Amino acid sequence: ATMPPLLAAIAVAGRRGVLLKEAGVVEALAEVDAVVLDKTGTVTSGRPQVRSVVPGDGWSESEVLALAAAAEQGSEHVLARAVVGEAERRALRLPTARDTVALPGEGVTALVSYEGSRVQVTVGRPRSGDQDGTCRAPAVAGTALSAQDSRSRSSESTKRAVERAERDGHTAVVVWADQEPVGVLVLADEPRAGAREAIAALRTTVGAPTLLTGDAEGPARAVAARTGITAVRAGLTPAEKSAHLPPRALAVGDGLNDAPLLAGAHVGLAVGDGAATLSVEAADGVLVRDPLGALAPLVVLARRARRIAR
Ligand code: ADP
Ligand code: MG
Repeated sequence: ATMPPLLAAIAVAGRRGVLLKEAGVVEALAEVDAVVLDKTGTVTSGRPQVRSVVPGDGWSESEVLALAAAAEQGSEHVLARAVVGEAERRALRLPTARDTVALPGEGVTALVSYEGSRVQVTVGRPRSGDQDGTCRAPAVAGTALSAQDSRSRSSESTKRAVERAERDGHTAVVVWADQEPVGVLVLADEPRAGAREAIAALRTTVGAPTLLTGDAEGPARAVAARTGITAVRAGLTPAEKSAHLPPRALAVGDGLNDAPLLAGAHVGLAVGDGAATLSVEAADGVLVRDPLGALAPLVVLARRARRIAR
């Protein structure tokens, strides 16, 4: 007996490292006319490295990194793994943290025991909404942070470190202790091998992909330039990412906070070759091998299968 074309396509896709949930996904893949790609862990390797630690006035590199790593130990974000990994590499003794709260698309916060007192440590994306461009710690419901939404006086050096890192195309995250910025971690995440070729193939088969990210404009533009992506939307919250979905989009992302994006897309595929804990639930399939390179051939396969099926 011969296999129905849509099921045959699922089998072929599976051999190429694309696990599709059902035959309807093949039909939907044949219809996509736009592609949106998450940056971190999708277009990039998802294995960022800490390039430098820039301590604020009165703080040392080790102190800032140890506080940050203590809070990040309870986070599943790829940036968290990089921060904890760097602290281990430097053989730092980490203070104990409790009440860790993940702030999706923002960062992480935890109560850290440090030199005999408790410090609310927050690690996350720089806030520049304030008129004076200060780096303000995100508010957290149920912690001391929300009680006083105080605009802490960010040291000039913190702001400058963030600006410099982002201008260089790196990801900057700020470390706050009790709302005061105490330093900046500069991270870099390389584009995946073969990303440029995969993007070019998508451009000709489906359309020019759009890069979506919660990261800042600088690092987003740097990754886009290195991979041939021309449309970039940066600084987005997880909810804002789904608002940028065209009607018949193929969306690819990893990480827990891409779930709304994957669920809202015509076809949502989760990158499953990295270490990130992903919500496969929200996706129509999982890319377990060469997640970018697999995309254009997958759409071609789906179109052919649907033609035969009709
Ligand atoms: P992306 O869109 O690149 O996948 P996210 O939406 O997960 O990124 O996060 C957006 C930004 O929030 C990150 O660039 C970083 O500045 C910050 N962030 C999120 N989680 C963390 C964390 N655990 N530690 C430090 N920063 C974080
Ligand atoms: Mg992500």
